[in-house]
Amino acid sequence: MHIGIAGAGLLGRLLAFELSRAGHAVEVFDPAPGPQAPVSGPGTAPYAAGWTAAGMLSPTAELESADEHVFALGLRSLELWPAIVAALGVPVELHRRGSLLLAHRGDEGAAHRVVDLLQHKAPASHAPQRLDAAALRDLEPDVHGVAHAWLLPHEGQIHTVATTTWLTGANCCRCRLWALPAWTSRGRSKLRAAAPLVWR
Ligand SMILES: Cc1cc2nc3c(=O)[nH]c(=O)nc-3n(C[C@H](O)[C@H](O)[C@H](O)COP(=O)(O)OP(=O)(O)OC[C@H]3O[C@@H](n4cnc5c(N)ncnc54)[C@H](O)[C@@H]3O)c2cc1C
Repeated sequence: MHIGIAGAGLLGRLLAFELSRAGHAVEVFDPAPGPQAPVSGPGTAPYAAGWTAAGMLSPTAELESADEHVFALGLRSLELWPAIVAALGVPVELHRRGSLLLAHRGDEGAAHRVVDLLQHKAPASHAPQRLDAAALRDLEPDVHGVAHAWLLPHEGQIHTVATTTWLTGANCCRCRLWALPAWTSRGRSKLRAAAPLVWR
């Protein structure tokens, strides 16, 4: 099939990557001036969130404001990422060593409210685990000065900038990106006239 995707954020690129691998011809439209990370500063064009996102794969933490369906999708996402990174064939940082929930002295009330909520909503195997200072130091020696720490086991993190960058290149040779939105007020003739930037 010949498939068009609106938006070259992490999801658009990932979809293009998977559909290309499945043998489809994919074209991705995005108003960003190019597939690279943005130059910082005011007045820059729209850019994908993946250039600034923390990349935390944190279904348990999401339970603070989300329900069990979001939690289940997060777990599924954690399962899928290793195969995606392996398929990319490049060294993208992906960790599944858990994430930390930290609180300064004075923030105990808010921290305990979140921890109690997560303990109530998450399955026991994913519930926050209290860390003492020595355990925190072992896990993350660079963290100093926090009064309270909990480990959210099984959570992970992915390097979104590296992933977004590599998804533009590797194995995606049939994807193309125009520096144009998927729909413009000027219509299809503008899309045809624009020179495609081939993702290589
Ligand atoms: C500061 C920050 C921190 C975050 N931290 C986390 C985190 O730790 N963990 C986590 O899971 N998520 C996090 N997120 C959220 C996560 O990054 C986003 O949910 C995810 O990257 C969204 O990807 P996307 O491809 O759907 O959208 P986007 O990255 O927003 O991409 C949308 C793309 O569509 C393009 N576009 C806009 N209009 C049009 C149009 N008319 N036609 C064509 N293209 C168009 C834009 O230029 C853009 O490139 C964070 C987000 C931010 C901003």
